[in-house]
Amino acid sequence: MAFLFESFESWKNYSVEKKISLHQVAMEYEKEQRGRTEKEIWDGLANAWSVMKDAVQTGLEEDMTSRSGMINNGAKKVYNYPKPVLSKEFQNLISRALAAKEVNSCMGRIVAAPTAGASGIMPGVLYTLQEIHEIEDKKILEAMLLAAGIALIMEQKASISGAVGGCQAETGTAAAMAAGAIVYCLDGNTDQIFNAVAITVQCMLGLVCDPVAGLVEVPCVVRNASAAAIANSSAQIGLANVSSVIPVDEVIEAMGEIGASMETRYKETALGGLAATKTGQAIAKKVLIRDIEIMPDEGVK
Ligand code: SF4
Repeated sequence: MAFLFESFESWKNYSVEKKISLHQVAMEYEKEQRGRTEKEIWDGLANAWSVMKDAVQTGLEEDMTSRSGMINNGAKKVYNYPKPVLSKEFQNLISRALAAKEVNSCMGRIVAAPTAGASGIMPGVLYTLQEIHEIEDKKILEAMLLAAGIALIMEQKASISGAVGGCQAETGTAAAMAAGAIVYCLDGNTDQIFNAVAITVQCMLGLVCDPVAGLVEVPCVVRNASAAAIANSSAQIGLANVSSVIPVDEVIEAMGEIGASMETRYKETALGGLAATKTGQAIAKKVLIRDIEIMPDEGVK
């Protein structure tokens, strides 16, 4: 079945031919490729969903100050700010995506969906979607399975790693997963789901990976918030049957082509972009000096 997840087209064709939904195809794949039972897969998804929700809560309730100090309880500040830019729901979405990602930057427990650097997007989006639309847990788990299928194809056709394809591959894939999950939860069909995925990736193309001091903090945390917003805007567009014009498989191929031609300094090496700015370099130097001072054998000086 591995061939099914080489393209969105073959995924759709199989689902039409067998008269099963996209997430059921992903379930068949998981059972066959990983040798797991259906119950084990559902239990694993339920556990992942629980960890995602915990990460959101932890990020909004506990102290989230990273060792470098670059992350300092931003999610709580956004969540509690008295003036919503659009609506309280949008403010919640943004702060929850920040919250779960801050937990990762502070070495807490998260679900890498698909990577640790992008671990705030799915939790922020699904948590807020469930709250607004009162979606039952079962549907959320099905949407997560569908999202896993989206990530699998993007990994095959391009990449899900910042070190290989830039941030478009990491936060872009998570945003595409989230957009597909939203459309599924709101009863969209396969074409609407794939349009939302394609539109999301179109909005994220070219994004470089340039983490300051090589830490997955800046700009990673705020990119989780913006990717969550893009996932929602793309889902809204896709649901309304607005075409992505370029088919989803071709959009992902474009992402792969851009990633392959991206210079190494934009691929998690911390040599370009924000990492190479004057301030970025100064922070990197400070972090390095502190790491040398806190050598494991010597303890904190
Ligand atoms: S900038 Fe790089 S490390 Fe940070 S989230 Fe994007 S891909 Fe990951």
